[in-house]
Amino acid sequence: MVEQQIPADIEALAVNENAEIVLARRYYRKDIDGNPTEDATQLFWRVASAIAAEESKYEKTTASTEILAKDFYSMMANMEFLPNSPTLMNAGTPLGQLAACFVLPVGDSIEEIFDAVKHAAMIHKSGGGTGFSFSRLRQKDSRVGSTGGVASGPVSFLRIFNTATEQIKQGGTRRGANMGILRIDHPDIMEFIRAKEREGEFNNFNFSVALTEDFMKAVENSEDYDLVDPHNLEVVNTLNAREVFEILVQKAWEKGDPGIVFLDRINRDNPTPALGEIESTNPCGEQPLLPYEACNLGSINLSIMLAEDEKNGISVDWDRLRNVVHLSVRFLDNVIDASRYPLDRITEMVTTNRKIGLGIMGWADMLFQLNIPYNSQEALNLAEKVMEFIQAEGRAASKQLAKERGAFPAYKDSIFGERDLGPYRNATVTTIAPTGTLSILAGCSSGIEPLFALSFARHVMDGDKLVETNPFFKTALEERGCYSEKLMDAITEKGTIADIDYLPEELRKVYVTAMDIEAEYHLKMQAAFQKYTDNAVSKTVNVPHEATVDDIRTIYWMAYEQGCKGVTVYRDGSLQSQVLCTEGSK
Ligand code: ADP
Repeated sequence: MVEQQIPADIEALAVNENAEIVLARRYYRKDIDGNPTEDATQLFWRVASAIAAEESKYEKTTASTEILAKDFYSMMANMEFLPNSPTLMNAGTPLGQLAACFVLPVGDSIEEIFDAVKHAAMIHKSGGGTGFSFSRLRQKDSRVGSTGGVASGPVSFLRIFNTATEQIKQGGTRRGANMGILRIDHPDIMEFIRAKEREGEFNNFNFSVALTEDFMKAVENSEDYDLVDPHNLEVVNTLNAREVFEILVQKAWEKGDPGIVFLDRINRDNPTPALGEIESTNPCGEQPLLPYEACNLGSINLSIMLAEDEKNGISVDWDRLRNVVHLSVRFLDNVIDASRYPLDRITEMVTTNRKIGLGIMGWADMLFQLNIPYNSQEALNLAEKVMEFIQAEGRAASKQLAKERGAFPAYKDSIFGERDLGPYRNATVTTIAPTGTLSILAGCSSGIEPLFALSFARHVMDGDKLVETNPFFKTALEERGCYSEKLMDAITEKGTIADIDYLPEELRKVYVTAMDIEAEYHLKMQAAFQKYTDNAVSKTVNVPHEATVDDIRTIYWMAYEQGCKGVTVYRDGSLQSQVLCTEGSK
């Protein structure tokens, strides 16, 4: 590791305690004995200078590399914007793989299946997550021409991917994550839907069933639909669409798995259909990609995109947000060039489409400060306004980059080229990620999610526990003279103040948690953000333990009707170990 030369005018950065724990465990470069060789200031400078250095490749750059490095640094050090974890871990290091999201094809032959296992292993080693469609694999027990034997089918091969993932730890800290997708008309669909019934099975995978519009129509009319052998396209069976849908809903109620994705809708928004069809997303569902495509993400911290003046009180700081969006798009576009991808085919795809995924975190914290309840029309309106702004400014920034550096190479054949909308530098600009670790670093609420609890114990990485109280909530209590240790104990126990009736009504309305919010509002929020997001939106629709199968069915239909690209429902207590849990949760 070369000693970093940090400019004298860069101020040393002090990060919060939780961020320091996470940085030390996962992000700092380490020596052979596992001791950190950098601190937070050095980390952010390493990333900022490596990403700014890409500017020198472009002749027409308007930015000085040195000034840009400082701008990138302060944007990260101020926690206004953070790139996805692999960029923080690997920028400016020999590994240099900076993207979080990959999709790999799985072809219907032993060679292709094991190529995919190998490529996934390489990606996991570098900190990325992988998504695959298994829909091309011939069904279980069908004949294998070359050997006269019978095929194992997608679910059996999935087990191999799961086991391989288990064995590869990313930099000794976290295991890889996968998305496994199967089309609803694959002959093995019922086995797939039931595959995660046993606790712990396929635990390195999220499963999603790819639903088509035809299937949804068949559910509506309670019609039969065909299961098709992907190998020879013969119809091998028919099932009743409504019955299959009911089982899907039942499984989601029991385990939260599988989720669903609307494949036709995803492909309707595919910016480059000439390059192929989208068949899968990344592990958490927010990034649909073509086979061999990768994407790097970054998130803007909305909780600090606020200004206060005497006339208007607290309001969104649109100017600051605009500046951060423009700088972030430039940063993410540079990340594409700075990244070293594990396969040449991936490099080729990535540099052809140049997809980036700029999103947000700290949305619930923004609403708290604006005194807007998450479950209100006002919040939905603001969600649309904020995301419309980010998408428009993000595209403007991408256009500006295209002027300097040229459009993405597939532009002419893209939907933008056909409509003469560009040229853009990037085939997609916006994605809303979960920001699982980024939000801990930034000290804000994650993605567009409401808080899971106002005060809670967060289990991270091998049993470590972090106790956190939302800072805006704490201030609100203090300002009203309500704060006491006893009250805080009660809140940590329950997570919510919904039924602490001696607290002011106004507080109980604004400081709502995931479980206080009606499923309908979870979903409407997802749909509001999706309306102005090029890729997809990571969101969990949380429902209480008592929610019924009917409730889940309603949510699935709403997701379909409101234009979401997929939906994940989580019923409290339906999994044995939850990533986030209040002391009192089941
Ligand atoms: P972070 O906050 O660490 O940047 P997110 O929670 O926003 O990450 O997840 C974004 C994407 O990063 C996921 O959809 C997935 O593609 C990838 N990812 C997240 N966690 C892992 C993991 N443990 N292994 C591999 N990829 C991951």
